[in-house]
Amino acid sequence: MILPIVAYGDPVLRKVGEDIDKDYPKLSELISNMWETMYNASGVGLAAPQIGLPIRLFVVDTTPFSDDEDLSPEEQKQLNGFKKVFINAQIEEETGADWPFNEGCLSIPDVREDVNRKEQIRITYLDENFEEYQETYDGLLARVIQHEYDHIEGILFTDKLSSLKKRLLKGRLANISKGKISVDYRMRFPNVKKGR
Ligand SMILES: [Zn+2]
Repeated sequence: MILPIVAYGDPVLRKVGEDIDKDYPKLSELISNMWETMYNASGVGLAAPQIGLPIRLFVVDTTPFSDDEDLSPEEQKQLNGFKKVFINAQIEEETGADWPFNEGCLSIPDVREDVNRKEQIRITYLDENFEEYQETYDGLLARVIQHEYDHIEGILFTDKLSSLKKRLLKGRLANISKGKISVDYRMRFPNVKKGR
């Protein structure tokens, strides 16, 4: 089932997510709905707060990035078919130099900005079967995971912009929260004035 994606301005996007356990209600259904919702919106990642749930769960599939011709064949191969569920993730360490990448977010349609993040992360997480992993990722893989991880910490990519950029975006972000945008997937807006 395709779920509405929560738009910028909704308080759920600002909550630090709670850990979940195996007994979380209808977890496998939730995960499959998140995949469906993400693919329908042509995203490469989706975090639970974006569908209104303040829990530490996000999904990533970087396959759409894998045909980027600017990437090395090795990187393309790494991104192709990288499809994972991250539960109760904790980034243990971020290392390397900051590098910019033009990011967007399904909760903030039509806004894209360069964001600086560190090259490499070490992360522990559980998969959908509650198997535990500790892994290191770098490059675009790390980037997508860092963006989704921020969602479960209540952080949005626009928080990382300069104060000038933030000021310039203020009006557009306010319009997004009011639903004054055109978007081709289902969304839920926090500040839509209800008609009678
Ligand atoms: Zn996002």
